[in-house]
Amino acid sequence: MGLIPETTIQEVRDRADILGLIGRHVELKQAGQSWKGLCPFHDEKTPSFNVNPNRQAYYCFGCQAKGDVIGFLVDHENLTFPEAVRTLAAELGIEIPETDSRERSDNEKIYAALEVAQACYREALRAPGGQGAREYLERRGLDDASIDRFQIGYAPDAWDTVVRALEKAGIPSDTGMLSGLLNERASGGHYDRLRGRVIFPIQDVRGRVIAFGGRALGADQEPKYLNTPESPVYHKRRAFYGFPHALEPIRRAGRAIICEGYFDAIALARAGMGEAVATCGTALTADHARDLRRRTSALSLLFDGDSAGKKAMERALEILLPAGLRVRAVSLPEGQDPDDYLVEEGAEALAALVDRAPDALELVIRRAAAAGSTTPAEKADAVRRVAPLVASIPDPVERSEYSRRLALATNADATAVESVIRGAVQGQSPPANPRVSLEGNQPRPGSADSEAEIGESEKRHLRQIALIVSRHPEKVTDAQAEEMHEALPNCALTRLIFAFADAGAEGFIDAEGRVDVRAMEERVSPEIADLAYKVVVDEGLYPTDTPAWEVLTQIVRRFLLKNLGMQKKMIKRRLDDPDEDQDRVIQELHVLEDRRRALGGDTMGRST
Ligand SMILES: [Zn+2]
Repeated sequence: MGLIPETTIQEVRDRADILGLIGRHVELKQAGQSWKGLCPFHDEKTPSFNVNPNRQAYYCFGCQAKGDVIGFLVDHENLTFPEAVRTLAAELGIEIPETDSRERSDNEKIYAALEVAQACYREALRAPGGQGAREYLERRGLDDASIDRFQIGYAPDAWDTVVRALEKAGIPSDTGMLSGLLNERASGGHYDRLRGRVIFPIQDVRGRVIAFGGRALGADQEPKYLNTPESPVYHKRRAFYGFPHALEPIRRAGRAIICEGYFDAIALARAGMGEAVATCGTALTADHARDLRRRTSALSLLFDGDSAGKKAMERALEILLPAGLRVRAVSLPEGQDPDDYLVEEGAEALAALVDRAPDALELVIRRAAAAGSTTPAEKADAVRRVAPLVASIPDPVERSEYSRRLALATNADATAVESVIRGAVQGQSPPANPRVSLEGNQPRPGSADSEAEIGESEKRHLRQIALIVSRHPEKVTDAQAEEMHEALPNCALTRLIFAFADAGAEGFIDAEGRVDVRAMEERVSPEIADLAYKVVVDEGLYPTDTPAWEVLTQIVRRFLLKNLGMQKKMIKRRLDDPDEDQDRVIQELHVLEDRRRALGGDTMGRST
């Protein structure tokens, strides 16, 4: 089956009836411009799931599930992207033409190259030359069903298996390089990056192959694991091994299991826990946390029982807790991985180990207390060590419950512990007390962000600008952009406004000339994508009485005036400074006043 051309996907998206389709699964009621219902992706009693048929988009204010009609089928029905498009196309009577490789976008070329390599690796595993690889997989306990389910393949110990397969498929070696399949020879020409390895395809949620991981077959072959590198379609910080297969099990089990390796994820799936995914040679990131949070609130972490594993678990908590995830820590006997455990103890024992795993933060608290909490100093250290983790929990009730437990475990005064936690909450951006701050502190997803110091009414105004720009991106002139750059505060909503303007300029628009949020989604950060849906899905802020562009101009002007007012205060402070060139300061003040007057601001303060 060939790739589906982008124009056909667009046609399917434009013609599909998002209300009708989602309405089959969710009872929707009209509320202004959008329709509301109980979210099918998380449990809720009051509707926070919004569908806007004008924008062909849905967004849930409860769990941040979002997307278009195709995305809904992918996430809700667990279809792959092509399956979802084909399903809708069939319903709408749209024919899908086979594509010419010259018309494909760069990313589509990369996907095509990876598909060719995948077919080639699969074939090599079945061929006589794949004997050694098949024996190795058998030794690791993988039967044919698992091998097929995870689409495992084999890269022969040769330099040009993929080189030739790409050549035969008419895919240029540049694309092979870009997709990470090939390396360049110093003498010119190319060779296969992965050789003599069992191959695990890494797929995105749509089921497209985005990268490969290879496990060495030879005993002295280094490194033991080798991945294809990051590429335009493969970002380690977002990728999970086994994600597409795990989506439906995650929904059914109401949890996800995170482990470290391909064999771990497969072992868990073989033991009946298909909700397991593995990170791809990287620590868990905030992007991972957000992707998981959209699908479940419960996570089980499965790391090695050694001290490196314990540290990795605590680092993972720093990322996962702020995202509102509830985390359990599964501990295997030291020196054993899930694979060994499955073989030695059986599937039921492994499942029991996961099901009965203790709460991860509870475990960290107990460990900190066990490390010593006899002297006052020891108690204080134990509390301060765990405080940042407790403080990072967004839900205040849960947070205070853990705070109580921390006090109990260290036998410290509950009120004092509570106050340390409160201090850590306030200190988190920026950290006020270095001892309480996390090492390598990053902006916390889901909690305080750069918008913290911006007032509600300003946020509302920025939302309104964003919405207007998303409806009329073509109206943003260079001068207008310049003015907005100067006027608007530095925050995520402002970045969204410019992302909308850019998307418009680059042609990511629907038939009505509005920004197509789905199309821009892959080009912006997850945070901005999230905001984009949030803004367009409910168009209640769109002005109806006054022309929209006039409203926008007024709001920008107000921000600008406020800015100039602040600048004025700063300049006037310099008037009191004897080291300043007073004539120049007064000159600057006049220039500022002229600008304020031109913008229609009051000039009463000029003589003071
Ligand atoms: Zn939801």
